[in-house]
Amino acid sequence: MDEMRGQGLGITMFGMAYMFVHDGLVHKRFPVGPIANVPYFRKVAAAHQLHHSEKFNGVPYGLFLGPKEVEDVGGHQELEKEINRRIKSSKGS
Ligand SMILES: [Zn+2]
Repeated sequence: MDEMRGQGLGITMFGMAYMFVHDGLVHKRFPVGPIANVPYFRKVAAAHQLHHSEKFNGVPYGLFLGPKEVEDVGGHQELEKEINRRIKSSKGS
């Protein structure tokens, strides 16, 4: 029983992390504070933006592993561009 509870908690933690990064960091539905300036999260957010832009036919499908997926399909430059765009727009606001 303890094990099952552990799994439930794991899913909840993942769901929270996903919501925080996806809705807050990427889509700016709520402020996430200085997390937005952490290079890893910036990369994750940029990769996810490419997913919505469908430049790579919907790649990346993952959120946290998005940057790797984009690089695997040769999207390194697009990813860098998107990161810079995000840095500029965050400075503007
Ligand atoms: Zn999204």
